Amino acid sequence: MKEQTFLEGFAVEDFQRDLIHWFEKEQRDLPWRKDNDPYKIWVSEIMLQQTKVDTVIPYFNKFIEQFPTLEALAEADEEEVLKAWEGLGYYSRIRNLHAAVKEVKEQYGGKVPDNPEQFSKLKGVGPYTTGAVLSIAYGIPEPAVDGNVMRVLSRIFLVWEDISKTGTRKLFEAIVRKIISKENPSYFNQALMELGALICAPRNPACLLCPVQAHCRAFHEGVQTELPVKTKKANVKQVAIAAAVLKDEHGKILIHKRDGAGLLANLWEFPNCEVIHSQENLERQLEKFLQEEYGAAVQLGNPFATLEHVFSHLVWNITVYDGKIIGDVAETEQLKLVDEQEIGLYAFPVSHQRIWQEYKKKETGG
Ligand code: SF4
Repeated sequence: MKEQTFLEGFAVEDFQRDLIHWFEKEQRDLPWRKDNDPYKIWVSEIMLQQTKVDTVIPYFNKFIEQFPTLEALAEADEEEVLKAWEGLGYYSRIRNLHAAVKEVKEQYGGKVPDNPEQFSKLKGVGPYTTGAVLSIAYGIPEPAVDGNVMRVLSRIFLVWEDISKTGTRKLFEAIVRKIISKENPSYFNQALMELGALICAPRNPACLLCPVQAHCRAFHEGVQTELPVKTKKANVKQVAIAAAVLKDEHGKILIHKRDGAGLLANLWEFPNCEVIHSQENLERQLEKFLQEEYGAAVQLGNPFATLEHVFSHLVWNITVYDGKIIGDVAETEQLKLVDEQEIGLYAFPVSHQRIWQEYKKKETGG
């Protein structure tokens, strides 16, 4: 077994002791660590996959206040759930979590399964989430290997393999299965994550403060900043978008609900379309789109904002106009005219929340 070569001469018990001892002293006081409720740990792990701890805390508290139990989340409307997730991005993750808790409610009587095979079959649950939730909530010695943990382990074990390859992740999982504390897998996994967050940082690891420095091969060879090895991502696609905040003669604003599949499915947005810079001017392309798609004749003003929104695989460059709707627009399930005060009731993706903020700024001269 390949992991065996990395484990030769490695003092597993000393490592576990040093790592866990440090975690007991230094762990941060985080709301999802207050009890071992698997549902809350699950929510926190999904939130933490997309943003940092400090950002997650207020979202987590609000989310748990609104959906205090797995049943409460399972029974909630999708619209309400998406609204509570607003601002965190990656909406497919909350959709998957919502579907998965419904399944837990129906199939397992509302109890999060403690069996890795059952838990990992739930929607959106990969090996990392399985390891994190089951080790923390139930003390099951499953590896929880994400990018942070791979960075830490590639330094400790001097692994020069590319961490963007699946095989490398599997190697780390195999290593963790051998070194995880069977007495306290929860603290072991959390300590590795915490070490990656607080000490073994991507660019400047604080090796002098590191509790496992004595075990770290990269530190001993002075190559810690050269690890992990990671190939660069393929080029992200740039997409030009023109969007508009449009009012009708009663001051109502036109909003559109995205399709139920694909990127940002079922979220609301201001009318927009993809445009091509080299063709006729952007206003003309947007006007044509609004007429053809929504039957809306509009008079656009000047662009008042340009925003960039970065996804993992593409970048939206959005030019935003204001404008008036001339005549009537037929409202449908997916096209609504709403009062300004009602905008806050709909779940918008981050990019369109920013459009609204820019619009309000312009309106109030801020
Ligand atoms: Fe990371 Fe440095 Fe600690 Fe090694 S000694 S685990 S590189 S912080």
